[in-house]
Amino acid sequence: MGGVIFQRLTLIGIGLIGSSIALAARRAGAVGEIVVQTRSQETLDRARALKLGDRYERDPAAAAEGADLVILCVPVGAFETLARAIGPALKPGAIVSDVGSVKASVVRQVAPHLPQGVHLVPAHPVAGTEHSGPDAGFAELFDNRWTIVTPPAGADAEAVAKVDAFWRALGAFVEQMTPEHHDMVLAITSHLPHLIAYNIVGTAAHLEEITQSEVMKFSAGGFRDFTRIAASDPTMWRDVFLHNKDAVLEMLARFGEDLSVLQRAIRFGDGDALYDLFKRTRAIRRGIIEAGQETDAPDFGRRG
Ligand code: NAP
Repeated sequence: MGGVIFQRLTLIGIGLIGSSIALAARRAGAVGEIVVQTRSQETLDRARALKLGDRYERDPAAAAEGADLVILCVPVGAFETLARAIGPALKPGAIVSDVGSVKASVVRQVAPHLPQGVHLVPAHPVAGTEHSGPDAGFAELFDNRWTIVTPPAGADAEAVAKVDAFWRALGAFVEQMTPEHHDMVLAITSHLPHLIAYNIVGTAAHLEEITQSEVMKFSAGGFRDFTRIAASDPTMWRDVFLHNKDAVLEMLARFGEDLSVLQRAIRFGDGDALYDLFKRTRAIRRGIIEAGQETDAPDFGRRG
């Protein structure tokens, strides 16, 4: 319990991530007051029923007025419109942050709309589930998970330190990197795996028409794990690929080259090449478990 870091927190968007921030910030006593904003009356009513905030607004500017920290918790494709809406309402010294899964695009979209004296400190909690909406949130989501803070060049050091302290209070480990480096790292660790999952489930769904239910019926561990990832929110992931285009295309090219090597090994019966790779990749998974970022449990320790 490190005490109040921000007197007024405004959450723009109250889905899985926004609601988890609200619950974790309360648990930590890190904020004095929480203002919740979302565009639909239905989600706003749900947030109120779940008691996620102290005040509820549909108008983003009204929600952002007087806030010490505003966090954008909506799909990345909506950032520019929202930044334009809240910009004029922000008080001097306010910090604007976000939780978007891509970072260079956030700086491009948001920075031009912030007045002098307002600080932009983007962040990405690398934690989530395939569930969406305010009911999906839980206070422990960020515990022992990484949040990457990506200050743009020339960012205010004090503002960066406060955002860093906020995420630590929410239970996260924090690391800083440039927005561009973040986008390259996440392209391979998160964005490409999702693209592969969407693709393989799409291919299987197509085959399903030919094999008549056998794909679904006999879907053992491998395919089932892909379907969990491929159940992730379509809007969020559409925006991730549209806004991290260059890094994803670069990683996809490398992936394609490596896949060709595997294809060749299979074609020419090169078992040693296959075995060597599988042995190395198994060690990588052990490393992730040892780093405390995964469990050995059959459900990977995930809820739902
Ligand atoms: P979510 O559960 O689907 O909630 C989305 C929220 O954004 C809702 O409040 C929704 O409002 C609002 N929204 C959706 N489209 C909008 C638009 N075009 N304009 C204005 N508001 C809009 O989403 P989430 O999973 O919390 O993700 C939010 C952000 O966190 C995304 O940028 C995502 O990249 C990032 N992120 C997600 C994960 C994850 O695993 N899910 C992990 C890390 C970071 P209404 O319901 O009122 O329409």
